[in-house]
Amino acid sequence: MDKNIKDLKILIDSNSLHKRIKELADKINSKYNENEPLTLICVLRGAVMFYTELVKHLKMPVKMEFVSLSSYGDNFKSSGKVKSFNLSLPTLKDENVMIVEDIIDTGLTLDFLMKFVKLNCKAKDVKLAVLFDKKCARKFDIEPDFIAYEIDDKFIVGFGLDYCGLYRNLDYIGYFE
Ligand code: 5GP
Repeated sequence: MDKNIKDLKILIDSNSLHKRIKELADKINSKYNENEPLTLICVLRGAVMFYTELVKHLKMPVKMEFVSLSSYGDNFKSSGKVKSFNLSLPTLKDENVMIVEDIIDTGLTLDFLMKFVKLNCKAKDVKLAVLFDKKCARKFDIEPDFIAYEIDDKFIVGFGLDYCGLYRNLDYIGYFE
């Protein structure tokens, strides 16, 4: 742990972040029937802040589910393997489902989770919403349906995203130079 909060530069401030998530929620609202329930799966722990902010602005009845997965260790790079800590989900039979993730990088984690949900949960439809898309780092053929921001290949923290378990609580997105 050799990073210090003093060295953190702001990439996206709190106001812009909240405004953009509201815009994304409006877009999701416009694509779904207001009366039809939507099950949102939060990928813990990184997506927690994005998830709770997003659901506040959704107009349809929402069901909340949580899974816990990771492909990063205490590092700046993906480990190349998915560690699953909790993948227990109900059947979700015939439901509209949306997986909500903080960031898609190589695509390993979400490729694994999308396949798992499609195979095991019998949902009517499975979509994917991400706060950040690092398209330039992609190794798996997976494309999110809803993206708040596309970013280049820098390591970011805040608003759920951590470095060594820290900085998830920040209400903005920062990066270390
Ligand atoms: P992937 O499986 O797509 O390679 O990586 C996705 C996971 O890697 C994310 O859920 C997140 O935990 C982690 N990750 C990828 N890029 C970053 C980053 O810039 N900052 C942080 N804090 N985590 C990242």
